Amino acid sequence: MPVEKIKDILGAGNYLDNPEEIAPYAASWRGGYKGKSPLVALPTSANQIQEIIKICASEKIPVIPQAGNTGLVAGCVPISGKEIIINLSHMNNIRNIDKAGFSITAEAGVILQKLQETAEENAMIFPLSMGSEGSAEIGGIISTNAGGTAVLRYGNMRNLVLGLEVVLPDGRLLQKLAAVKKDNTGYDLKQIFIGAEGTLGIITAATLKCFPQPQEKTTVFASCDDLNHAIEFLNFIKSDALTAFEFISATALELALHEIKNLRNPLKETAKYYLLAEFSLAEIESLLARALEQHLVKDMAVASSIHQAREFWQLRENISESARKIGRSIHFDISVPIEKIPDFLDCTTKKALEKFPALVSFPFGHLGDGNIHYNFYLPKDVPDDDFARVKSALKKIVYDAVTDLQGSISAEHGIGIERREDFLIYKPKLEIELMRKIKLAIDPDNIMNPGKIF
Ligand SMILES: Cc1cc2nc3c(=O)[nH]c(=O)nc-3n(C[C@H](O)[C@H](O)[C@H](O)COP(=O)(O)OP(=O)(O)OC[C@H]3O[C@@H](n4cnc5c(N)ncnc54)[C@H](O)[C@@H]3O)c2cc1C
Repeated sequence: MPVEKIKDILGAGNYLDNPEEIAPYAASWRGGYKGKSPLVALPTSANQIQEIIKICASEKIPVIPQAGNTGLVAGCVPISGKEIIINLSHMNNIRNIDKAGFSITAEAGVILQKLQETAEENAMIFPLSMGSEGSAEIGGIISTNAGGTAVLRYGNMRNLVLGLEVVLPDGRLLQKLAAVKKDNTGYDLKQIFIGAEGTLGIITAATLKCFPQPQEKTTVFASCDDLNHAIEFLNFIKSDALTAFEFISATALELALHEIKNLRNPLKETAKYYLLAEFSLAEIESLLARALEQHLVKDMAVASSIHQAREFWQLRENISESARKIGRSIHFDISVPIEKIPDFLDCTTKKALEKFPALVSFPFGHLGDGNIHYNFYLPKDVPDDDFARVKSALKKIVYDAVTDLQGSISAEHGIGIERREDFLIYKPKLEIELMRKIKLAIDPDNIMNPGKIF
């Protein structure tokens, strides 16, 4: 029996075969998708994964690579119920710290927060930061090419990966962990696995780019009533020292304040929008004062301590969690050119409300990157069938508007199951054809995370 052979490879304590224990691993973070799996494997080495994949390849058993399971597009949920989940959380060693070269080599199961702490302990930073950093793991973050709040200055995960180690769908190990910054010997194969959502191989380790620690940090929470002013404010303060520029609509802030204890708005007056900006500089008072004088923002609070800066960030980082608490909601993760965002939100929200007046929109997100988490909820008593009908009509309204602006229907969360149909409709056919050819060349038997992306 292949499953028994896999258990023998793993050894006791390194797998789960009880349906009750498996259930949370086979469900999506928001809870909208649930699947079944015969086994959750918890390997401790790349070598074990190679052995397991060789069995799966010869028996044509599908596998789902999994990390922290915080992905927001149901990328780890089994579809057929035959998939074995290979969760890499037990592979959580830091393999190498290169202070001179500013890089860290970490196994795929290292939690993002641990990587950030390791970098700090060694007088460096690993800049990627997001609300899920206490649970999301390196393998998942690479496989979704995650963005987060520091993309503006440091880029997304693709920009931060120097090398990768990957178990291929036939069990062979592709090792490209060297931290060389220059290598033009043919195609850059590691790029194919970044953002591939586990459909091409299992990432077992990565060498990641770190940066010198900034000397200073300033965190600003501001408000405005017109998103055009927010963009003027962004243009006014933009420099290499600006590391984050996030926005929160009043509805998103109210949701977080209502659902999560101990959060508070640091500004006295309410506004339509709130902005969170972070600088790797201390001397910016005069710049901020001029922005206030020019009425680019309505009000502003500058964090006076690390603790207060943390409190500002808590407001932004708890929105996804508060949306999960209210249950069913409709989520979009879109990007359009930054200067088009105010018009886009205005027109699309109007169109959506004309059709469905009961909808409440609560957009927020990475304004500095043109990436909006454009979310909606409906009253709790709306029946499931009506909810599904509204969701489907809303998708068309939003995605048509995004496509008109040549934007992306999935800016940072990926495709998974959640966006598969939309991806096949909105992605240009030639790009889909090339992607299918890559998938077929690397995973001809389609054992790697089947039903995700394609
Ligand atoms: C509160 C909250 C805030 C968030 N904020 C952001 C944000 O600001 N920016 C952003 O980009 N995302 C954000 N996310 C989404 C999420 O955290 C990311 O998608 C994360 O990168 C996924 O990491 P994970 O370890 O949880 O991966 P998982 O959810 O376990 O997996 C994600 C995908 O990667 C594949 N995968 C996992 N491990 C491997 C591996 N070792 N090899 C190959 N494939 C693998 C899986 O099959 C799946 O398709 C947020 C999520 C939450 C819950």
